[in-house]
Formats: sequence, C-alpha cells, structure tokens
Amino acid sequence: MTVSDLQKKIMELKAEKQITVLAHSYQSAPILEIANYTGDSFRLSQVAAEDKNKTCIVCGVHFMAETVKLLSPEKEVILAHPGAGCPMAEQFTVEDILKLKRVYPNHTVVAYVNTTAELKTLADVCVTSSSAVKICEAIPSDKILFIPDCNLGAYTAKMVPEKEIVTVKGGCPVHAAITLDEALKAKKEHPGAKLLVHPECIPSVTALADFAGSTAAIMNYARNSDSKEFIICTENSIAEHLQYELPDKDFYILSSRLICPDMKATTLMDVYNALIGKGGVRIEMSEDTIKSASVCINRMLEIGQ
Ligand code: SF4
Repeated sequence: MTVSDLQKKIMELKAEKQITVLAHSYQSAPILEIANYTGDSFRLSQVAAEDKNKTCIVCGVHFMAETVKLLSPEKEVILAHPGAGCPMAEQFTVEDILKLKRVYPNHTVVAYVNTTAELKTLADVCVTSSSAVKICEAIPSDKILFIPDCNLGAYTAKMVPEKEIVTVKGGCPVHAAITLDEALKAKKEHPGAKLLVHPECIPSVTALADFAGSTAAIMNYARNSDSKEFIICTENSIAEHLQYELPDKDFYILSSRLICPDMKATTLMDVYNALIGKGGVRIEMSEDTIKSASVCINRMLEIGQ
C-alpha cells in the first residue's frame, strides 16, 4: 500500500466511523494532510470540544491527549501512538511539586499547558506559550512559581520584571539543546533572514530573536512579514510546513537536532490502527482528576478573555 492509498483509507474510515483526527503542528506532512484539525496543543483541545464527533484520535504526545480529555470529558480520546510522551511535561512528580509548594508557600503556581493532568491538579493557573506573559501580568499575585519549563519561565520573567518568578531546572530537551553558538552561526550564514525563536529555547538564544513566540505565532509572523527569509528555531517540521505553504519565501532550519522524537513517533499506520480499534491508547482519568485539573485551565480562560 502506498502513502496515498493509506491516507485515502484513513479518510474513508474517519467519515464512516465519525472520528475526528487532531494533529499537532510538529507532526509530519502526511499526518497533517489527513487531520481534521491541526495546530498548537491547546487550540486542538478547544476545537475538539466544539467538534460534533464523540471520538477523537490525537496525533501528538500524551499530555496533549489528556488536555483534549479535560476539555471534553464526555468524549472518547485516543492517543494514536501509545508511547509518545513529553519529557518536559513528565519531568516532575506530584511529590516534587508538593515539595516546591512547601518551599514557596506564598507563590501562585503557574503551569505551562505542557504538564501532565496530575500536575495540573496542583496548579493555580495554566498558561500556553502565547498566553504566559499576559496571564502572569494579569494574576493578582506578584510571586509566581512557574513549572515545568524554566526557559519559558525565564522569558516570562524578563517580560514581566515587576513580578518575582521562580523557575525550576528542566525544560524541553529539544529546544533547550540549541546553543548560542549555533544561533549565531545560523545568523551569520543567513544575514538577511529573520530569526524566529520558540521561548522554550535557552534565554541567550531567545534574546537573539527578531521574534519570539509560540509555534502558531511564529507561523503567523512568517505569513504576515514582508521579509523573504527566515531561520526557524523551533521543531523542524515548522520550517517544512511553512516552506510548502509559502513557496516564495525561504525557510532555514537552525539545527538538524531540532526534531522531537516523541512528536515524530506517530505514523499513518498508528492512525489507521487506532481507527480500526487495534492501536492507540484510550485516555482514562478519574472524575476527581478531571475536575481538579480543569480548575487551572478554566482560570487561564477566564483571565485570557
Ligand atoms: S518538542 Fe519539547 S515540549 Fe514539545 S513534545 Fe517534544 S519534548 Fe515535549
């Protein structure tokens, strides 16, 4: 069977079984082509909540499927590749965060959406990479414990200097691995290109950016900019997707290492197997976890509006 034969079969099965496929933007092009919705993780959860189908297959990592379930507890949510996790989302245990809360009892716990549902139950408010600055500015507390990404936390602290923002070592191993030397080298090789950086990168790299923002914000910046050349400092699939979408512009990857193995674990066969009920993993959470983890998400939505 060819890739297009398999894509055709998947499209037929989706329609026949009334199943929605959600694909994060870091997925490969063949998966994005068969998805009903593509985008950042939180956007996928929101569109899934409004979608009429009662079953969703998530092409992404485990915390994303959990977030879909939190926003749509009545739906069946299946993660297409059972082993796709996120080292950053899973870097802390509940005990780690409880210990930190004891060290910083007066700090508001702000959790990046890239956390497990279990950790969300301990957070006061959730943020996405595009809303972190706005939410931290808006919350009444001036002492914040930011988990789990120290780099997004450091970027937010820089943008909200009037608040004390405590971060904890860790972060996304894919973005945080990019060095200042690599970023400087890329700028030297492409002197006319705008450098677009995800704030999960280390502060010295983010500081070099012409624009720093979430994946969706980076894509929008490239679409709306008058510039013709861009160095993309986030997962390499974004440079590829932008190059397909905007063939008159040039997109350069900053490093061949900017590939998330977990995001790339999902294959079309995983989606097919999940559709026929022979693959994927169903997301199960207790009612208590759903209720408790939803509090910080609802707070983010209230403040964000
Ligand atoms: S790119 Fe980083 S944050 Fe995103 S899923 Fe991969 S490891 Fe997690």
